[in-house]
Amino acid sequence: MVSETESLIAYTFLKNKIIDSGFCTLCGACEIACPLGALQLKAEKVERLTDCSKGLDLCPICYEICPHSEALLLRSLSFVADAPVKNEAVGYYRKIVLAQAGDSQLRAQSFGGAVVTSLLKYGMESGFFDSAIVTQAESQNPSKPVPKVAIVPDDILSAIGSKFFPSSVAKAYGSAVYGYGQKNIAFVGVPCHVLAVRKLEAWQHKISSNLKIIFGLFCFGTFSLNSMLTYITKMYNILPSDILRMRLSSKFVIQTRDGETEIPLPEIDDHILPSCRVCTDFTAELADISIGSGYPLEGWSTVIIRTKTGEDFFYEAVEKGIVNTWVIEEEPKVFERLMVAAMEKRTNALKKAKEMERTSGLHPVLLLRESSVLSNSRIDEIMTRSVKTVSQDISVSQFLALVPKFRHIAYPLVNKKNVPIGWVTLEEAAKVGKHLRAKTSVNKIAIRKLVTVYADETALVAFKKMSSRNIGRILVIDKTNPETILGIVTKMDLMHTLTKQF
Ligand SMILES: Cc1cc2nc3c(=O)[nH]c(=O)nc-3n(C[C@H](O)[C@H](O)[C@H](O)COP(=O)(O)OP(=O)(O)OC[C@H]3O[C@@H](n4cnc5c(N)ncnc54)[C@H](O)[C@@H]3O)c2cc1C
Ligand code: SF4
Ligand code: SF4
Ligand code: SF4
Repeated sequence: MVSETESLIAYTFLKNKIIDSGFCTLCGACEIACPLGALQLKAEKVERLTDCSKGLDLCPICYEICPHSEALLLRSLSFVADAPVKNEAVGYYRKIVLAQAGDSQLRAQSFGGAVVTSLLKYGMESGFFDSAIVTQAESQNPSKPVPKVAIVPDDILSAIGSKFFPSSVAKAYGSAVYGYGQKNIAFVGVPCHVLAVRKLEAWQHKISSNLKIIFGLFCFGTFSLNSMLTYITKMYNILPSDILRMRLSSKFVIQTRDGETEIPLPEIDDHILPSCRVCTDFTAELADISIGSGYPLEGWSTVIIRTKTGEDFFYEAVEKGIVNTWVIEEEPKVFERLMVAAMEKRTNALKKAKEMERTSGLHPVLLLRESSVLSNSRIDEIMTRSVKTVSQDISVSQFLALVPKFRHIAYPLVNKKNVPIGWVTLEEAAKVGKHLRAKTSVNKIAIRKLVTVYADETALVAFKKMSSRNIGRILVIDKTNPETILGIVTKMDLMHTLTKQF
């Protein structure tokens, strides 16, 4: 039984809601944030070494800092919320560009554009930061990630490439501050890692002042190391020590001395960590700069620049020829894939979270539960007024060419009289086979479910309508003339309303 004192101690919640419920992704943030040094992440498990409730009546820290708790989310979001664009698939940003390392040898070593490695190396050599938190591979077992404090450029170079298993990078950040005494640290991690360090900043934890810049990696999920390696050995007769590298394309590819083995992604879906199934963030929405693949463009990465710090640093590196850039508007397929992947991750996670709440009583973290703020905001205060509509006459390929230009992922469909009759979304358009796009009208793929609100209603009304119907946007129409569109409200507008409170 939990004692009264124990119930005010964050560890009680951390253990019940995160660790024992299977949501821990082993980042190590709770360990470094604990003021008593009572927690330890070891052998893929967080343990409490001493009973902290004996010396404390109340402590909220470890639970609030954990990226899988609902605490501090909006305050964390406010670090990026001054960016000019708010997009419901990829969050706040200043610019999205394609980039690749200027150094062709680095490009050959990475399966992406080696942008992260190039930027880290440049940042350290130029003195912008003194160290970087990276993830190397264990020499005896190359699939096993080893988080590392890089203090010389060689440490950065040997971390090139993605490892698709959990890495305790927040714990390594703690070592950089406490162990190495580094003052200006660059951090690299997947979205939940990024959220953990943003939470340290939002908490104003003393170690967060040593953070200089955050690089986020796009992420579909990570696999459980033990269960995945056991599966690969059993099904493909590949021992962990035989694996040279792993990479992700349309399949999961394992490289050994004998060649490459391709595994279809659905086959290994069971080995993805439970937290990843309810994770809505694909593009590390809170990073200074987010980087992912430039698929289907080989050798290029997609770079989302979110903060002023990220923008200044990135363009300094571009000016010096460290990375080359290319305009994403010229590559609509890359933009389409990015938006669709991000929306699919979000939609699937929301569905899964609802299912978990219903079947197991677990409550995964989702944003937008702060209804009181929403009930005090009117729709006409938060809606986007300049609405780009799509006419019934255009084809799916004409629509797809419009999307990178206007940067939205859904548009109201209007008839010849300019009356709204549905929505055309990037997600639906992307489902049309490439050879059929030019001859398929957007009319055919439009979603006819037209949910609307009035400008004088509250943001809470819009939120409730969107949540109950599982939609990401709603049309604002004129009360006196319901055929006239006044604006649009998206989930991102609602989030923006909430973050402004901070
Ligand atoms: C688990 C995981 C899932 C991913 N899923 C996708 C996806 O679905 N779609 C997509 O477009 N991109 C995904 N990425 C990102 C992609 O694989 C590349 O990391 C990204 O495009 C940057 O490429 P790059 O060539 O610039 O990186 P590089 O120059 O090769 O540098 C990679 C950096 O990643 C760091 N790193 C490697 N593994 C980890 C890890 N497990 N945890 C924290 N840091 C790590 C290393 O420290 C290194 O500095 C994923 C990455 C990871 C780690
Ligand atoms: S003392 Fe440490 S383990 Fe205990 S509740 Fe606080 S942060 Fe958690
Ligand atoms: S902070 Fe990180 S290591 Fe700690 S419980 Fe949460 S996910 Fe696990
Ligand atoms: S999918 Fe989400 S929870 Fe899973 S590793 Fe990636 S960022 Fe973390």
